Amino acid sequence: MTQRNLTILGATGTIGVNTLDVVARHPERFRVVALTGQHQVERLATQCRQFRPRYAVLLDEAKAHQLRGVLADTETEVLCGEQALEQVASLPEVDTVMAAIVGAAGLGPALAAARAGKRILLANKETLVMAGEFFMQAVKAGGATLLPIDSEHNAVFQSMPPDYAGDLAAHGVRRILLTASGGPFRTRAVETLAAVTPEEAVAHPNWVMGRKISVDSATMMNKGLEVIEARWLFNARPEQIEVVIHPQSIIHSMVEYLDGSVLAQLSNPDMRTPIAHALAYPDRVEAGVSWLDLARIGQLSFESPDTRRFPCLALAYQALAAGGGAPTVLNAGNEVAVDAFLNRRIPYLAIADTLRHALERVAGRAARELDDLREIDREARSVAADYIHSLA
Ligand code: NAD
Ligand code: MG
Repeated sequence: MTQRNLTILGATGTIGVNTLDVVARHPERFRVVALTGQHQVERLATQCRQFRPRYAVLLDEAKAHQLRGVLADTETEVLCGEQALEQVASLPEVDTVMAAIVGAAGLGPALAAARAGKRILLANKETLVMAGEFFMQAVKAGGATLLPIDSEHNAVFQSMPPDYAGDLAAHGVRRILLTASGGPFRTRAVETLAAVTPEEAVAHPNWVMGRKISVDSATMMNKGLEVIEARWLFNARPEQIEVVIHPQSIIHSMVEYLDGSVLAQLSNPDMRTPIAHALAYPDRVEAGVSWLDLARIGQLSFESPDTRRFPCLALAYQALAAGGGAPTVLNAGNEVAVDAFLNRRIPYLAIADTLRHALERVAGRAARELDDLREIDREARSVAADYIHSLA
């Protein structure tokens, strides 16, 4: 048994909390070296008391100062700022980094972990959407290992040949089938979507998640981002990745082989399963998840996504086909639009309109360096913000 020394980026979020839940079940296997949050001082303090990390990181100095006060009687050193996130992601005494910050803010620390050759448990899909090619290069150059946490990609990983090294054809793989729950609006009358509220959008039928990814699930942008994520993780062409709606969220994704075989991974919808899989890989450990009771579930059903209902999914395929900086624009525009929707500044349907506008205005830009992508990200955010302002 290998003991793993962990940094958990985004420890105070949904994925972070689930990760610590699994870690707590196996104290002999996992040691926590660093925990990070944005500004939830109390939650991070409680986590630090339980897991006694060497470092804790918060984003701003005022919050860090507050945490230092609370943890004064402990051995945990409190750091602050983006630089500190990169520092704890690349510590020599850390071998495994859970990358579970939400949004573009997760890119810098994930890249630092890649360059330092860590085993990266990647939850932050935005890293691959914004900068897939650069990130995969950094993983290779740094000798890092990438294990997907996103349940679909974790399922694909488990259904792929164990020695898969990036060539689908060489392994007789025909397609990757990503499943999607369809979110809370799968059957709602399309004419009523204009009236959707943030409360309705974040009420996911099967999963408990952060607010941003919950809205992404309602628009199916989440699946769009996951198509792009799969493109980079498994070196697949867009036409080799298909989305199928599966409302029960029991099959988490599938791999179809040339002989007609389809391999799938099934489990109850609980993120502790993919988290435990990646934490212990290649071993298997108990995750605290209830056992799958197929007779009680009764039926597994499937349908094709309707792109009239879910225009964001089509926009994601478009951005992937356009390549270059288009996925970066998609991700940035989406972060701005979702935030505006959650703060009641735009209606639900304007999320897709904002993306369409941003893709048109900032499209076609090539990106040769990471700095080009950062510039495209900035420009897309400002174009999206202006558009949203014009709607008011
Ligand atoms: P969340 O909002 O619950 O947690 C986000 C974490 O990131 C928190 O710890 C927060 O403090 C931190 N954070 C936010 N902004 C930050 C910033 N600017 N700088 C530093 N830290 C910051 O989100 P979540 O649901 O846990 O999702 C985390 C990531 O995992 C996302 O990329 C999401 O797409 C992905 N993911 C989540 C799920 C899920 O079931 N929740 C499933 C698959 C993938
Ligand atoms: Mg997912």
